[in-house]
Amino acid sequence: APSVPYIGRFAPSPTGPLHLGSLVAAMASYLDAKAHHGQWLVRIEDVDRDRNVPDADRHILASLQRCGMHWDGEVTWQTQREDLYEAALRQLGQHIYPCGCSRREILDSQTRLAATSPNATLVYPGTCRAGLAPGKSARALRLHTHGTRIVAFTDRWHGHVSQDITAEVGDFVIRRADGFWAYQLAVVVDDSAQGITDIVRGADLLDSTPRQLYLQDLLQLPHPRYLHVPVVVNADGEKLSKQTGAQAFDNGASSQALLEGALLPAARFLGLDLHAATIPVFWQAAIPAWERLLRARGAF
Ligand code: GLU
Repeated sequence: APSVPYIGRFAPSPTGPLHLGSLVAAMASYLDAKAHHGQWLVRIEDVDRDRNVPDADRHILASLQRCGMHWDGEVTWQTQREDLYEAALRQLGQHIYPCGCSRREILDSQTRLAATSPNATLVYPGTCRAGLAPGKSARALRLHTHGTRIVAFTDRWHGHVSQDITAEVGDFVIRRADGFWAYQLAVVVDDSAQGITDIVRGADLLDSTPRQLYLQDLLQLPHPRYLHVPVVVNADGEKLSKQTGAQAFDNGASSQALLEGALLPAARFLGLDLHAATIPVFWQAAIPAWERLLRARGAF
């Protein structure tokens, strides 16, 4: 039995079918869990109801199964866990404040800021921090970041990472103006409720991690370990997504086509040069290869 418990997860947003970019994140989290003899959970992150595509969740789950990536336990859907987010909001208490700014107003103030100091990162200017301005009504709920605060952590892939949340992000949204829970809160609550010890995901989320660590501190939750793998980009350097022309996963393709057209390319992207004639043989080779790759980086 493994001496160190490991629970990992893949947490796709059901905004469309799996594609090479999301398959890379799924594969890395799966390989890391398997190499650690751990569990691998799947959680559908569907809190942003505007972006959900009908049946994308079922399509993603079917793709994982076709690839031979079998999850442990029951799949969870964030929209069925909103009581947990509500409880966390109550626990955050006085760190939360209502914000009456519209997107337009925030953008305008950011544009002014950007004009005076061109290198400034666009952050929420704190307009409603001391209370709603007269005539404004509460829209979003924001988390007070309480002055300059550097949050640092060691990413297993990237090494030392730090961010000044107040300066680089500002007081961030916990519940959106449309009433939807923000990703940052939901992900922290669920990772903790599900006992996740290790988060393996795309590097596009590297700059969200300090916000999540900060929320974990406020909610008195343990910090998981993090590993952010490179993200697949298209020829224009954009993260691969349906919008940037990613090719959707074809659940009707033959196993051979999935192996050659999806699994082997995703593995190659992660730095695993494998040869396998079947999907089961692929995984048999990929799990130890992942461990060797990480050991060589001192990241296992
Ligand atoms: N749901 C997020 C996404 O699909 C991933 C969240 C995470 O892995 O923390 O981009």
